[in-house]
Amino acid sequence: MRCQICNRFYAVELTFESLLSAKEICPLCRELIAIPVMKEVIPYRNGEIHYHYLSDLPNCDLATMQRFEKMIVKALKEAISDYDQDSIMIFLDEREYGTFACWSQMLFSYQKAVFISTVRYDFMKYDEHF
Ligand SMILES: [Zn+2]
Repeated sequence: MRCQICNRFYAVELTFESLLSAKEICPLCRELIAIPVMKEVIPYRNGEIHYHYLSDLPNCDLATMQRFEKMIVKALKEAISDYDQDSIMIFLDEREYGTFACWSQMLFSYQKAVFISTVRYDFMKYDEHF
């Protein structure tokens, strides 16, 4: 069978039961989907960052990263429930994280910032910018 998330083929033992209730998601994607969205709150001068991410694995391989990217809607749903009209929502990847020092000042005009990413980025390295 072909997984609907990662698009890879995977083996399924065919039985009458599996024929009638075929799972269209491979075992690894099923395992990753079951992991709840993680959240942390990072305070800054006049507000908070509500940070939602799917994985805190520091060295995610490319295939796992691609799986998480297809599951980002899970984090997005939780982030939207955290969002209000006085906040700003930002999708993070390596580029935004790497340039955080350049745009972090923009956050201070909001009381709440909602961040979303597939993997967790450690903002402790930017401590002096809060
Ligand atoms: Zn899969």
